[in-house]
Amino acid sequence: MNRLEVYKFGGVAMGTPDAVRGAAERVAAAPARLAVVVSAMSGVTDLLLGAAQSALAGDEAGYRDAAERFAARHLELVDALFPHGRDTDGRGAGGRDASGRAAALRSLVAEAADELRAMCESVAVLRELTPRARDTVVARGERTLARIFAAYLEERGIASAYVDAVEVIVTERRLGGLWPSFPRCARLARERLAPLLAGGRTVVVPGFLGRGPEGELVTLGRGGTDFSAAILARSLGAAAVTLWKEVDGLMTADPRSVPSARLLPALHYREAAELAYYGARVLHPRTMVPLADRRIPLFVRSAFRPEIAGTRIAHDVGEGGYPVKALTAIHGQALVSIDGGGMIGVPGVAGRAFSALSQAGHSVVMISQSSSEASICFVVPEAEAGHAVAALEETFRLERRDRLIERIAAERGVALIAVVGLGMRGRKGIAARTFGALSGAGVNVMAVAQGSSELNITIAVLERDATRALQALHDEFQLAKVRPLSDSAPRGASLAMLGFGQIGRALAEQLAAQGRHLERELGVRLVVTAVADRSGVRAAEAGLSTRELAALARRKARGERLHPGGAVLGLEALRERLRAELWPLPARRPILVDLTSEETAPLLLEALAEGFHVVLANKKPLAGPQAEYDRLVETARERGLELRYEATAGAGLPVLDTLAKLRESGDRVESILGCFSGTLGYLMTALEGGRPFSEAVREAWRLGYTEPDPREDLSGRDVARKALILARALGRRLEPDQVALEPLFPPELDAGDDDAFDPARFVDGLAALDDSFARRLARARRDGNTLRYVARIGPRSLKVGIEAVPAASPMGGLRGTANQVVIHSRRYRENPLIVTGPGAGADVTAAGVLNDLVAIAVQERRAPGGRGA
Ligand code: ASP
Ligand code: MG
Repeated sequence: MNRLEVYKFGGVAMGTPDAVRGAAERVAAAPARLAVVVSAMSGVTDLLLGAAQSALAGDEAGYRDAAERFAARHLELVDALFPHGRDTDGRGAGGRDASGRAAALRSLVAEAADELRAMCESVAVLRELTPRARDTVVARGERTLARIFAAYLEERGIASAYVDAVEVIVTERRLGGLWPSFPRCARLARERLAPLLAGGRTVVVPGFLGRGPEGELVTLGRGGTDFSAAILARSLGAAAVTLWKEVDGLMTADPRSVPSARLLPALHYREAAELAYYGARVLHPRTMVPLADRRIPLFVRSAFRPEIAGTRIAHDVGEGGYPVKALTAIHGQALVSIDGGGMIGVPGVAGRAFSALSQAGHSVVMISQSSSEASICFVVPEAEAGHAVAALEETFRLERRDRLIERIAAERGVALIAVVGLGMRGRKGIAARTFGALSGAGVNVMAVAQGSSELNITIAVLERDATRALQALHDEFQLAKVRPLSDSAPRGASLAMLGFGQIGRALAEQLAAQGRHLERELGVRLVVTAVADRSGVRAAEAGLSTRELAALARRKARGERLHPGGAVLGLEALRERLRAELWPLPARRPILVDLTSEETAPLLLEALAEGFHVVLANKKPLAGPQAEYDRLVETARERGLELRYEATAGAGLPVLDTLAKLRESGDRVESILGCFSGTLGYLMTALEGGRPFSEAVREAWRLGYTEPDPREDLSGRDVARKALILARALGRRLEPDQVALEPLFPPELDAGDDDAFDPARFVDGLAALDDSFARRLARARRDGNTLRYVARIGPRSLKVGIEAVPAASPMGGLRGTANQVVIHSRRYRENPLIVTGPGAGADVTAAGVLNDLVAIAVQERRAPGGRGA
């Protein structure tokens, strides 16, 4: 697995032994190599800060108690996670390793608690708590849990390594604050983390911490573990970051205020940043910064309900019909206002006020100035209001004396509501709708500001109006209609089509025609979420509608590209596109359908690693080297995913299905023979009708019965592939060159060079064979036989070529493109089991694919699991 991701587990997601087990579960199921960032157990950071505060106040009992509780929480966790670690004789399932690990962790916890006591003692003596001391006190929350988690992963057989945050996250001073140095972080990650990851280890890093400019330990601010995860993801060039939290994802509003709030399936980075900044507690506001320019998607998911896709935050998320996507509220604010006619036309008042406040240490959440300039107001946290007013009084002492400013006052009990959405930009009606909705609900708007980003409108209202305001806005912007992925496709299997040629289009039609029936009869829904081919990728999280698919099909049928004007992609470029656009789509155990005829094995392996089931109509990946086949089958099995390919062996005939049923019932298949090529069947029937060989080929080619390159059929290669796939399905291990193959044309007719190949000329050249085919048929007829192109899969041999078969036999009776499979088994020895039916054409192939899809969807419906579970 080359894909690399970052997982972060929050404090609640690691708050109990069960939660920690769940987190390990997520790690085990990850479809990628992982760097894991952990927070402190829930409540532990507060506990430690409390200890430091007690020490500062000289409260010895207080900090001693905190140290006690710190130790108890972690020891309890160690005991629960390493149940066999208790017996010192090393017996029991965990064995000696477990007891060794548990003992080491116990002394680690004891040491951390001792050190905490010692630090608190010196703080108590000095009565001074420096930022460094405080950071050192709280850091043990993350560090201890990360060590325990790393050991627990080892215990569960997941090779892991603890790497301390100060080794990989370095900060420098910028604008008076600390900010990570991304280039240095990246270098450290390459040095410290990359070798461990390449060696197959999961690295575990404590979040929230980093190294300061003097090499000291620093913290990244409350909730900073999200930021740590994002920094690491950037450093490592990770494919995605997932924040596993106690919530399902980001919501349209806080459900405690707005009961009809919905889970948001997707947000743009900037929307998420805006929400986080304006009080959505779920996300640290800086999380998006390291990710956005690298376009690393961020997922917020529930650690406790991994079956929910959560919220995807990325660069490619549009407004999706919702100019306003979400609302947030910041409570407990105060509105500080400066009023006075003397300010009108006087420049710089707002600027001076602003700098006065920031010098006094206030972070101003909102500024707004009335257009008359007779009043300016600021919103600051309630607790800071008195101090802020005093600072302003001081700054404007002269203006106050001269009555240019009449009043500086704070109104407490204020809430700020932010209305956020990408689609608001440049759209005038939104503000009007916002105010309309609020006045309709009887809410008095105290102040308004539109962020310069134009991504939000912020409104100050009285706290007691806040809930009503939120509900009115939620209704106005119809946010209750946002459909999270987990609601819109709970029973649906989302499928991505690779290849949108004739088969793909036939499949799309069948899905449209049968969708209703499948849903009613089997309770399954198949949703096409992406179509990809060498001309590009078309993806839509919520699924492409029947209409959109039909339009795409028409466009392709006209010979146009999926993306007009797009370049034709090589396989490798296509893979890059899938990486960027398909793998990250949030879906539960989606299905990738390979309808190409390319060497897609590497791509399919990647899809499996990404948690996709795979269905193939494409024979090539299954008919290459045995090792490649094994890898596909193995990977699917390891990941608990389906790899189905009914349409490869017998187009529409249920051949693999039949073989599976025989095997299940205890029968043993001894040999299979059959006519597996509709194309060659068509040719043989034409010969019987007296047509010259070359003419029959020309017609088949024109009618689209052959592969685009007719040599694929006439060489027998296509039949050989099917035979090989069947043989492998029976458990035989064979390389492609072990198939004895009789082509229908001599090697000298094969122009060789693929680029210069001209099908029309090739077909003309076949005329030289017309006589010999006519003679061969006449000879067969004299003995009551006819000619068929037959594949024989014996116990040890695999052969495809022309055979004379009795005209009166079932095989001799085949007409046109019909296929036939004859199975000899222990039970069906004298009287073989014969399956006959249409064998060629996009429709029957698509039907075979559809069967596989339905089988997977039905199974998924019974046992839904998270992607990669
Ligand atoms: N433990 C730290 C806090 O509670 C950091 C985090 O949880 O992200 O703020
Ligand atoms: Mg936290």
